[in-house]
Amino acid sequence: MHDQHSSKQDLAPGEHIDPVCGMTVEEGPDAITYEYNATKYYFCAPGCRRAFEKDPEKWLRDGPQGHM
Ligand SMILES: [Zn+2]
Repeated sequence: MHDQHSSKQDLAPGEHIDPVCGMTVEEGPDAITYEYNATKYYFCAPGCRRAFEKDPEKWLRDGPQGHM
C-alpha cells in the first residue's frame, strides 16, 4: 500500500469509491447507496449521499472533493 495516487485504485471485490469524498466503501447491509443513470453508487455517510443527490453530474464530472 504505497501508491495512493493512482487514479483507479485496485479495489477488492465488493469495494466502491465514494464519488463525493473518494473514500473506499464496502458493500453490505449498512451500505449507503444511491442509484443514478442505472449505476449504483456507494457512500461512506448520509451526508455524502445527500451531496451527490443534489447534483450528481457535478461529482461525476469533477470527481471526489473530500469532506466539506
Ligand atoms: Zn464520503
